[in-house]
Amino acid sequence: MGKDNLDNEMIDKLTGVGPATAEKLREAGYVDVMSIAVSSPSELAEAAEIGEAVASKIIMDARKQANIGGFETGAMLLEKRAKVGHLSSGSKILDELVGGGFESQAIIELFGEFGSGKTQIAHQLCIIVQLPKEKGGMDGHAFYIDTENTFRPERIVQMAEAYDLDADEALSKIHVARAYNSNHQMLLVDKVKELSKEVPARLLVVDSLTAHFRAEYIGRGALADRQQKLNKHMHDLLRWGDLNNGVVCVTNQVAAKPDAFFGDPTRPIGGHIVGHTATFRIYLRKSKGPKRIARLIDSPHLPEGEAVFTVNEKGIRD
Ligand code: ADP
Ligand code: MG
Repeated sequence: MGKDNLDNEMIDKLTGVGPATAEKLREAGYVDVMSIAVSSPSELAEAAEIGEAVASKIIMDARKQANIGGFETGAMLLEKRAKVGHLSSGSKILDELVGGGFESQAIIELFGEFGSGKTQIAHQLCIIVQLPKEKGGMDGHAFYIDTENTFRPERIVQMAEAYDLDADEALSKIHVARAYNSNHQMLLVDKVKELSKEVPARLLVVDSLTAHFRAEYIGRGALADRQQKLNKHMHDLLRWGDLNNGVVCVTNQVAAKPDAFFGDPTRPIGGHIVGHTATFRIYLRKSKGPKRIARLIDSPHLPEGEAVFTVNEKGIRD
């Protein structure tokens, strides 16, 4: 929480930013100094309902305060990209949709209404991550942050048996924690970082990413705070993925019917904060019986598309 508050204060302290402007900026998604430093005067003026001259002044100060960071050579980036692993979902068609499985060093956001298969995919990944590379896995353990109490060891046993794995051993490689509120959820990521020094984990699931945030931050006044917290949370998760060359899988429920505050039911919670930080966003919806449809919404290098997969007793299949 410390750094979080620091960033928070820094926005308020920028030349030209009063409390009302700071609030408007956060609501519009400008949660840290960097996001302001890289914006244009007209963009900022519109977001905070201020004049362009004031916006320019704010941006100039933000550029002075922001930690711009250094450059990496293309060779360094290529080396990092070369390490990217792919984790199979259990369904070849779904794997193909995301370019051969879920990438490591990335956040995969599964969003969809209740029963669309988000938790099922999360369970399945916990099993497949344990398999060797030839079988679509990463020879690793999994961390599972469970916010809705929907992790089911019995389901893991079922899925493990489908791969001829020893069920007890499979369960022993999945490290589950219940998160009781959004602050606890964020603290658990710190704990995961610490434990990852000993546990060879390659998967981190947060199921659900947004449920606690949604329940706790109610009303327009809370929106800016919520977005700021979520932004920090997403960056913590991405950092874990980078450090451990791991896959981060988060779930996000969309309401079945329109919601006065959150609006459009097919729009995932967290707005553009979650959207911009997630590397892959997959929209899941129910089809006939065990069939589910996955749609790839946003990807840095893949076309949009759809895949039909099945949830059956064995797990996720074509
Ligand atoms: P959500 O998107 O809300 O997390 P889930 O991933 O929990 O949804 O999906 C629940 C659905 O998965 C159930 O409605 C059922 O269709 C299917 N399912 C769950 N367990 C099994 C099982 N053991 N065998 C077959 N289908 C299952
Ligand atoms: Mg679920």
